[in-house]
Amino acid sequence: MARKLLLEHAQLEGISTYEVYRKNGGYRAVEKALKTMSPDAVVEEVKKSGLRGRGGAGFPTGMKWSFLAKPEGVPRYLVCNADESEPGTFKDRYLMEKIPHLLIEGMITASYALGANTSYIYIRGEYSWILFILEKAISEAYAAGWLGKNILGSGYDLDLYVNIGAGAYICGEETALLESLEGKRGNPRIKPPFPAIKGLWQSPTVVNNVETIAAVVPIINEGGDEYAKIGTGKSTGTKLISASGNINKPGVYEIEMSISVEEFLYSDEWCGGIKNGKKLKACVPGGSSVPILPHFLVCKTANGENRMMTYESLSDGGFATGSMLGSGGFIVYDEDQCIVRNTWNFSRFYAHESCGQCSPCREGTSWMEKVLHRMENGQGKMSDIDLLTDVAKNMEGNTICPLGDAAAWPVNAAIRHFREEFEWHVKEPKLCLERNYGLVHEPVANTIAV
Ligand code: SF4
Repeated sequence: MARKLLLEHAQLEGISTYEVYRKNGGYRAVEKALKTMSPDAVVEEVKKSGLRGRGGAGFPTGMKWSFLAKPEGVPRYLVCNADESEPGTFKDRYLMEKIPHLLIEGMITASYALGANTSYIYIRGEYSWILFILEKAISEAYAAGWLGKNILGSGYDLDLYVNIGAGAYICGEETALLESLEGKRGNPRIKPPFPAIKGLWQSPTVVNNVETIAAVVPIINEGGDEYAKIGTGKSTGTKLISASGNINKPGVYEIEMSISVEEFLYSDEWCGGIKNGKKLKACVPGGSSVPILPHFLVCKTANGENRMMTYESLSDGGFATGSMLGSGGFIVYDEDQCIVRNTWNFSRFYAHESCGQCSPCREGTSWMEKVLHRMENGQGKMSDIDLLTDVAKNMEGNTICPLGDAAAWPVNAAIRHFREEFEWHVKEPKLCLERNYGLVHEPVANTIAV
């Protein structure tokens, strides 16, 4: 059985309550940090652990913390990004629902390390029921003396609040999140300055993902060196993966980052193989933003090496033959899935969620969605395929925030690996409609001019 650092007690009855969490070793990390370690020593442990941000970018957490400016007399903030909205990603939801005190313990420990006396958990609007779970857990933590003034007699004070968003994917981008937290429309800010210098209320701020903050607890309990022994290379520790699609056992899994994709996909301990004995067609290994991998690149890299569930191995080959670990949203497609339809579905999402500030993203997402829609509806033209590639190319790297890239990458990769399927949609519109919808009528006339 794989080692679990975060979800070890997730199935324990009553683990969402303070009593059961505490009885099972909860709040030991806070005790250890506040009683025996300086804030800098906590930062050092996190650096030693090699922990990388679990929200998608994979930036080293200890390094991010060390960038935090510390001007005299200016407050610092820790903000937890619980705006988990990436299609195919639902691991933070599970963690917060099951073990809310693990996140709170991580927040206290990390806030202490950063010298923050006020911290926030920003949760997506669609997770409204978790707001109540977290608020109850925070009340319990205050009542037990883990939050508030002079925690454990250490002289350290911390207030923790939960704020709920209004259902915008873009608020998962850290600067948009901060705008929203300040009560404004969640538009991403132009960087620099980065939040570590000017973040919430123009004060130095660290924004970390739920899983990242929760991982601070085992790091402090076990020590950074011990944590770094788990996993391989620059992918240390454990990782939560949300597995979905055409697999036998969809769900949230905690894996050591030393197992292969093949093991994860086919072992009964995790995904349990492709559903109904079908063949694997493709996999999106890190949430909707990352490039899709065709079946022959899922378990092996282009060099024929085993593909591992690590940051390095999943991105091996760059975007030509690789992808990314991203947010850990592992979406599996069997042989019956339509790549054009799935790509359109993602594009529709990004077109809806673009904040509209920059033209390449505002116009590009919307055009990609329209063109993919007509193609998927049997109205496409052969020139649409290159048009999509061209629009995606003009978006990539030309926008204020990464949503432009996130919208372009899936389209580029789908065309790169499944061009024949796009062409088939143009050549055989009736067959395509029949396959996807069981429809047998003539495709309607093309109504979208480009
Ligand atoms: Fe808004 Fe898109 Fe520009 Fe990001 S890339 S700031 S979502 S328009």
